[in-house]
Amino acid sequence: MSTATVGHKIEGIVIAVVKEQAPSERRVATVPEVVQKLTESGYEVRVEHDAGAGAFYPDDLYVAAGAKIAPGRAELLDGATIVVCVQPPTLADVEMLAESTIVIGFMNAANNLSTVARMRDRKVTAFALELVPRITRAQSMDALSSQATAGGYAAAILGADNCPKFLPMLTTAAGTIRPATVLILGAGVAGLMAIATAKRLGAMVEAYDVRRAAGEQVRSLGAKFLELEINAEGQGGYARELTPEERVNEQQMVSAAVARADIVITTASIPGRKAPVLITKATVATMRPGAVIVDLAAESGGNCELTQSGKTVNEHGVTIMGPQNLPSRVAFHASQMYAKNLQSFLSILVSEEGVLTREFTDEILASSLLVNAGEVQHKPTLDLISVGGL
Ligand code: NAD
Repeated sequence: MSTATVGHKIEGIVIAVVKEQAPSERRVATVPEVVQKLTESGYEVRVEHDAGAGAFYPDDLYVAAGAKIAPGRAELLDGATIVVCVQPPTLADVEMLAESTIVIGFMNAANNLSTVARMRDRKVTAFALELVPRITRAQSMDALSSQATAGGYAAAILGADNCPKFLPMLTTAAGTIRPATVLILGAGVAGLMAIATAKRLGAMVEAYDVRRAAGEQVRSLGAKFLELEINAEGQGGYARELTPEERVNEQQMVSAAVARADIVITTASIPGRKAPVLITKATVATMRPGAVIVDLAAESGGNCELTQSGKTVNEHGVTIMGPQNLPSRVAFHASQMYAKNLQSFLSILVSEEGVLTREFTDEILASSLLVNAGEVQHKPTLDLISVGGL
């Protein structure tokens, strides 16, 4: 791979944009608007045929932005310098990557250990966007946040769509309708977006988080913050895991608010851990028939005891939804935001003069570097790989 400086034009760097293969994944790693900027800077951008179709970015828009369309995966990856993706690459993809190719995307390493091991063996370099540190300088690259924003929005819409009630207060000739009550458990990025969306739909919104600091943000969105007796602010602004005693107290305290809600949206999670159970089976039994739970933590174990990941179940007349990959439901904008995150990430990987760094000393690059030069760089993943004997 050769990179050269011509004025301020980037030369010799081929960015390959894959068509996502995971079932129900509609997003694409970059969009024509961003491709235009990249090609203007001098990058060669190659897009796999129909890569943007699921998010409603047809091939011809990419071509108009200066990209070339690759008919298939092999043609796309052949000679690529940087491969961008949303979901982790497959084992078959890794077999097609040349040594030193850089892959950037969500890597979900703990659940893809054999792919990580294969990238190590083939001396591929992989950056995991979920490992980008949440420091101010990295805000524009924070794909976890941008996709959580999309997920929070989609959760509120899904809840409203499955609720048999109006969300706003209505005064009509046929009588006055009380606004629906929406409860959000977990007021991180997704939760705050769900609050804002439910407020805009006219609901009465209540929210709870184990981090008391979240209270101010909840109130600033016009929602009521439930003051419970726990404060579990952990490291780096994340929540810490509750003690067994705190967990029981929390479930009891939360249950009264759950019982009066028409829609409950749960988003509580602790990085690297199974999601905490906030709504027990017994609490579901106290809910009104027609109430809806949208469990955003379904994929990491669920915040409701009855959640089944990827399914909608009905218990005591309560609809419990465990959607997977909610950001994909708003694929157009989720992809646009992700593409901007990637563009920003590229700006620290490749200098304005077009030099692709191989010294990943920048804090953001060092933190998100999963595999490089035949070694797994991320310690927790390395430990898992050693335990698995891979
Ligand atoms: P997350 O997805 O890890 O968790 C979602 C929410 O669940 C969090 O607010 C967490 O406190 C809450 N939670 C965990 N256990 C709970 C329990 N038992 N009961 C109730 N709630 C529980 O979080 P996130 O959305 O990624 O955000 C985590 C933190 O990072 C927040 O403080 C957020 O403001 C911060 N953040 C900072 C930046 C930045 O500075 N660049 C960017 C994004 C987020």
